[in-house]
Amino acid sequence: IESSPSNFIRTIIDADIASGKHQQVITRFPPEPNGYLHIGHAKSICLNFGISQDYNNSVCHLRFDDTNPGKEKSEYIDAIKEDVQWLGFDWGENLHHTSDYFDQLYAYAVQLIKKGKAYVDSLSAEDIRLYRGNLTEPGKNSPFRERSIDENIDLLERMKNGEFAEGEHLLRAKIDMAAPNINMRDPAIYRIKNMSHPMTGNKWHIYPMYDFAHCVSDAIEGITHSLCTLEFEDHRPLYDWFLDELQTPVHPQQIEFSRLNLDYTVMSKRKLHELVEGGYVNGWDDPRLPTLSGMRRRGYTANAIRDFCSRIGVTKKDNIVEMSVLENSLREDLDDNSPRALAVLDPIKLVIDNYPEDQEEILRGVNHPKKPEQGQRDIPFSKVLYIERSDYMEGAPKKFFRLTEGREVRLRFAYYVTCTHVVKDANGEVTEVHCTYDPETRGGKSEDGRKVKGTIHWVSAKHSVNAEVRQYDRLFSIPAPASESDQDYKTFINNESVQVLKNCQLEASLSTAGSSAYQFERQGYFCQDSVDSTPENLVFNRIVTLRDSWAK
Ligand code: ATP
Ligand code: MG
Ligand code: MG
Repeated sequence: IESSPSNFIRTIIDADIASGKHQQVITRFPPEPNGYLHIGHAKSICLNFGISQDYNNSVCHLRFDDTNPGKEKSEYIDAIKEDVQWLGFDWGENLHHTSDYFDQLYAYAVQLIKKGKAYVDSLSAEDIRLYRGNLTEPGKNSPFRERSIDENIDLLERMKNGEFAEGEHLLRAKIDMAAPNINMRDPAIYRIKNMSHPMTGNKWHIYPMYDFAHCVSDAIEGITHSLCTLEFEDHRPLYDWFLDELQTPVHPQQIEFSRLNLDYTVMSKRKLHELVEGGYVNGWDDPRLPTLSGMRRRGYTANAIRDFCSRIGVTKKDNIVEMSVLENSLREDLDDNSPRALAVLDPIKLVIDNYPEDQEEILRGVNHPKKPEQGQRDIPFSKVLYIERSDYMEGAPKKFFRLTEGREVRLRFAYYVTCTHVVKDANGEVTEVHCTYDPETRGGKSEDGRKVKGTIHWVSAKHSVNAEVRQYDRLFSIPAPASESDQDYKTFINNESVQVLKNCQLEASLSTAGSSAYQFERQGYFCQDSVDSTPENLVFNRIVTLRDSWAK
């Protein structure tokens, strides 16, 4: 994988190596297994794993932040691993779970109690909120704040063993109820959750809070640079407070960067859950979603996503990136790497009246115009072809360089044909376009040098294969659905986000397309749908159009 451009985080790391603060850089990607990964996660994956690849003897850990049993599932763990690997990264030996550290986390919490830096609070959730104060008012100390060390240790142990109901007690750090930063007003360390955990079973009735578990897990793993998104900037003092109070052997540095936001979509896991569970889309891998599994199914390449992440860079500025930036990375990769094919999406018959009824021949098509090394393929040709309905127009103006009565066009890789007449059905719909061909123009060129402006694609009716083609558009009809209210954003779902075309006619070679992407000439990039396509019922997805024709 290509190395990534520098950014302010790499500048910090470079300085830490130069000063001798670190010889080895250790990063981590810490997803909570409560949903599928999306393109925003890819930014964090490329940042963290990219650093581990570009720095000498550096590693990146994959850590499942599994402290919320009930919301987390092994289905998500499996999907996350698959996505990280698909993106081209490898955690090697360094696969961890926050739950691996539950014993150590507990011991550290006891240590805080012993230092007089943590206490069990027994206020109700409502009172805890009231006592916390707000931005303009300092909080007040809980009446339970001065419990003795022994009492706190005893209560915590009984919380752990399941002697209390949820919400009855809470272990809190003893910091400062008047701190201007509300995160420092005696934040929670452990809450009671009478719930079993996929990794630890029924052992625990308390589970650690993110702010405590995260910094301690980072320290246990010897993480040097703990990279997270900007909303954790206000939590950094707490991250440092825990590690300072606990005197952990190492003290990782938390550095924040801006989240990726993309227009015309949503990325919060809560909203993605709603779209999936509410049936607004067909599962987490719906090709319209910004999930990595959806994008993969749509035909996005890992290469394109990594290129996109390196182009957008890593900064502290929040913004919304246009989908066209992502699509341009995609087009560039697909243009370089996809073989070409002929496919007619809205077919109409083209009959060549002067071509012998029972004749057929094999023509040659280049697989990639810019890569002769990709060779040529055989394309069968016969009297009856399919062409795109839109490539014929009755009474067309001069500038229409396709078929109309009396006009000559080139059939890609084949012959020049001149339209003579059409056949219509009872409703006046054109059902067949008739033409004559010039046998002297085989391969699509004429010795006499006469000019033919238009070239259209076609398939031989006798040889083509039938397929369903799904064309996707933006999932939302407005650029910033995420800034609408939680009730409203779903009303901006684009009702035309998928258009299903039946009975498309594809060049026969596409029946064995496998998982590769193809450029259907003049149409865009397509690949077989990995879920619904079968040899009997081919289904192709449009990955992206040839050019950015959208919105502009
Ligand atoms: P959500 O807020 O949607 O629930 P999350 O941030 O809670 O997502 P995690 O599973 O906790 O999701 O995220 C794992 C890592 O991915 C975190 O380090 C997080 O900062 C990073 N990440 C998540 N979303 C984005 C994004 N849009 N851009 C960059 N990094 C992201
Ligand atoms: Mg989360
Ligand atoms: Mg979050």
